[in-house]
Amino acid sequence: MKNTITELLPGVRTNIPLAPYTSFRIGGKASYFFIANTKKKVQEALRACHKLGVPHFILGGGTNVLVADKGYRGLIILMRLKRCEIRKNRLYAEAGALMSTIVRKTGYEGLAGLEWAGGLPGTVGGAVRGNAGAFGGETKDTIVEVEALDGDGKVKKYSNAECHFEYRSSMFKKKNLVVLSATFALKRGSKKRIQEIARFHIRYRKEKHPLEYPNAGSIFQNCDLKNIPLRLRSKVQHVVKTDPFPVVPTAYLNAEVGLKGVRVGKAEISLKHPNYIVNKGKAKAADVLSLIQKAKQRVKKKFSVELHEEIQYVK
Ligand SMILES: Cc1cc2nc3c(=O)[nH]c(=O)nc-3n(C[C@H](O)[C@H](O)[C@H](O)COP(=O)(O)OP(=O)(O)OC[C@H]3O[C@@H](n4cnc5c(N)ncnc54)[C@H](O)[C@@H]3O)c2cc1C
Repeated sequence: MKNTITELLPGVRTNIPLAPYTSFRIGGKASYFFIANTKKKVQEALRACHKLGVPHFILGGGTNVLVADKGYRGLIILMRLKRCEIRKNRLYAEAGALMSTIVRKTGYEGLAGLEWAGGLPGTVGGAVRGNAGAFGGETKDTIVEVEALDGDGKVKKYSNAECHFEYRSSMFKKKNLVVLSATFALKRGSKKRIQEIARFHIRYRKEKHPLEYPNAGSIFQNCDLKNIPLRLRSKVQHVVKTDPFPVVPTAYLNAEVGLKGVRVGKAEISLKHPNYIVNKGKAKAADVLSLIQKAKQRVKKKFSVELHEEIQYVK
C-alpha cells in the first residue's frame, strides 16, 4: 500500500524553494513539488493529493502570485504542458504554453486577436483562469473552448459562455478548476500590422512599468467607477478609462494617497507605476503584505473604496 505522496507520485520532489518560480522572487519552500508536462500527469498529481488529503496549488508562470515566507505545506503542481497548434484560423494551446509564445506564433502566421497580449507574462492557463486583459483586450474575447478538469477530475470541454468570464475572473477561478488547454478563434490580417501592435504593447510596458525589478504586475484590480462615491466622481473623472468598463486606475488612487516610493523592508510601491510593488532585493512576503494593508487603509480613508487584490496568495 502506497501511503505517501512520494510513493504515489513518481517524480515528486520535496522542500523546493518557490521564489525562483515566481516573478516576485519572494517566498519560502513547497513541501512537495511536481512538474506536470502532460494532462495525464496533472490528473495523476490531483488524484494523489485527493487520495492522501494533501492540499495542492496549481502554478503557471508564477507572475500573479505572492508566496508566503513560510512557504506552502502541500503539493505545488507546476504546469509545463506546452503544446501549441495552429489549424486554419484556430489556435490550440495547452495551459502551460506562455502567452508570449502564442502572441509570437499567431503574429507570425498573420492571425489577429491576441495583439493586446503583447508583453503579458504568464501562461495560457493563468490567463484563462483570471481572464487576463490589457489595452482594451481580454483573454475571453477570442476563446471558443476551454478544456479543464471538472470537480471529479474528469476532462471536460467548456464553451466560452460556460466559462462565465468576468473582469479578471472566470468560472475556473470561482470553482477552483484546473485549466488544461484553450482554443482561440482568430482572424486573418496583415502580419506586419499584427506584429507592430504587439511590439508596441511590449515597448509601452517596458517604458511605463517597473520591469527592472522583480514584481507581480498590478497588485490590485482597478476600481469600478460605480464604486467611487458620487461626491468624489468629478475629482477622478479625468483619469477614468474604459478597460473593459469605466474604471479608475488604482495606480492613480495609490499616488493620490502618497504611496509612491513607500517602503517596508525591501518591498517598495513603485515610483514608476504605483499599482506595482517591486522587490528591491530579498523582500519578504510580510513586507509586501504590510504595503498592501497600508494601501487599502489609505485609499479607503480618502476615496471610501475597497481595493481588491489581483494577485493570488500561496500560503
Ligand atoms: C510585469 C507584469 C505585468 C502584468 N500585466 C498584466 C496585465 O496587463 N493584465 C493582466 O490581466 N495581468 C497582468 N499581469 C498578471 C499576470 O501576468 C496574469 O494574471 C497572468 O495571466 C497570470 O498567469 P500565470 O501563468 O503566471 O499564473 P500564476 O501566477 O502561476 O497563477 C495565478 C493564478 O492562476 C492559477 N492558475 C495558473 N495556471 C492555472 C491553470 N492551468 N488552471 C487553473 N488555475 C491556474 C494559479 O493557481 C493562481 O491562482 C502582469 C504580471 C506581471 C509580472
